[in-house]
Amino acid sequence: EKTAIVIGAGVASLAAAIRLAVEGYEVDVFEKNEVPGGKLGLLIRGGYRFDTGPSLFTEPANIAALFSLAGESMEDHLPYEPVTVSCTYFYEDGGVLQAHRDPVLFAATLAEQHQENPAVVETYLRQAGNMYDRIGKLFTEHSLHQRNSFSMRSVIRALKTTRPAHLFGTLHQLNRKTFRNEKTVQLFNRYATYNGSDPYSAPGMLKLISHLEHNEGIYYPAGGMISIVNALYQLALRKQVRFHFNTPVQRIITHEGYVTGVVAGHRNHYTGNVISNMDVFFTYKHLLGHDYKAARLLRRQRSSSAAIFYWGIRHEFPQFGLHNVLFSGNYKAEFNCIFKQARVYEDPTIYINITSKQEAGIHAPHGCENWFVMINVPSVTGGDREAFRKHCRQLVITKLNRMLQTDIEPLIETEDFLDPDGIQDNTMSYKGALYGSSSNSAMSAFLRHPNFSKELAGLYFTGGSVHPGGGIPLCLKSAAIVSGLITKAEHKKH
Ligand code: FAD
Repeated sequence: EKTAIVIGAGVASLAAAIRLAVEGYEVDVFEKNEVPGGKLGLLIRGGYRFDTGPSLFTEPANIAALFSLAGESMEDHLPYEPVTVSCTYFYEDGGVLQAHRDPVLFAATLAEQHQENPAVVETYLRQAGNMYDRIGKLFTEHSLHQRNSFSMRSVIRALKTTRPAHLFGTLHQLNRKTFRNEKTVQLFNRYATYNGSDPYSAPGMLKLISHLEHNEGIYYPAGGMISIVNALYQLALRKQVRFHFNTPVQRIITHEGYVTGVVAGHRNHYTGNVISNMDVFFTYKHLLGHDYKAARLLRRQRSSSAAIFYWGIRHEFPQFGLHNVLFSGNYKAEFNCIFKQARVYEDPTIYINITSKQEAGIHAPHGCENWFVMINVPSVTGGDREAFRKHCRQLVITKLNRMLQTDIEPLIETEDFLDPDGIQDNTMSYKGALYGSSSNSAMSAFLRHPNFSKELAGLYFTGGSVHPGGGIPLCLKSAAIVSGLITKAEHKKH
């Protein structure tokens, strides 16, 4: 009998379970919460609905692949559409820029509003695309950590042909050299935050993230991000995956260098394949009791966390689109605060996601909007949570009032709040880090934990805290790597 147990039901777990079920495995998923999805959650408050975590959907091909493996079509179960304006940016000097997903139109807007040379913008995005195809794909689609791995050698070969500025310079240095206007530099620096990193430390290589938004483009799944979870969960059920909700895994059982199962719901469950979708730090610390190994993982700096207000707003703001960013006046000081001083910056960059722009009258009452209002904060837990909430609220409202020239507070009809402690409690992400460890050094991408254990045969890792990284697309790719490793190990046995 081919069997596997998955710990946690985040997006990577759902993908791994589907892949293994298609390969003929009997799969059991144990999840401590009462619903699947992990960081991808749903909140309904009054007449408003909110996606609680991720809001940006790129690379639908990762999900389409799961449906086609199962002999089904993504369009039938998870309809989605392209979004023409990727993001609307607001600057402290009153400038507003609509970033079109189309690279040529985007370059033309940057030429008109920021006096950039459109050819420079187009070349930058083309190079980002080339880098993604040459290095990004190799890196994200393979486990690089097996001895003498062919893919590791290929990545090193590809890196040797990459300009040093992408490897040894920071993203900020690269962008400052490329663009004329500081406001364009800030816009392209922001891509470092897509994996919770600091553009003033992270390598220029992260420029390839802009490719996903402007060459491939962003999408909106009908019903919002929660539809991704619902569609994958239903697909897993159709493939006979068994889910056990409200059932935390308490321990991984091992015997002489092999995993033999887990303890969940105070019962032993046996299998030779255990896949942890739990943060790798907590897996070592709580499920294996390997304190030394867990402590070693903390040598890598955590990615940033977030403070989020979910506001039902009794008003419509035509200047906003689906994705909006109100930039800080001093980006460098903001990142310095988050990563070096571990505190919230006084003038934080605010991201606002409003899905009622896509589904008016459904995600918010008519004439109203559902605002997901997020600022980046350090991954720190255990402080005075009420004081933290009040502090963030005051900073956000002051900035919004100033930049929108409106008194926001009386328009807030419903309010919920999520902080790093809440993110840690909900999904066991250490210190509420959104993307596991950060990419704040040239080598950090290579130093993430592998997708398998080198000490315990049969133990695998998937999700945002391990290779290749956080964010939905990379989590889905980690699931593909893990199922590949398991089926390869199975073939070796026979
Ligand atoms: P997680 O979502 O971390 O889920 C892990 C699951 O394991 C949880 O359900 C947890 O309850 C369960 N679990 C843990 N321990 C146990 C145990 N012992 N037993 C049983 N179950 C257990 N990504 C994007 O791509 N785009 C975005 O716009 C974006 N924005 C984000 C905004 C926010 C506010 C947050 C929080 C994240 C954002 N991300 C974004 C990141 C993205 O959400 C994550 O990278 C991704 O969802 C992580 O998925 P995962 O599979 O690693 O598991």
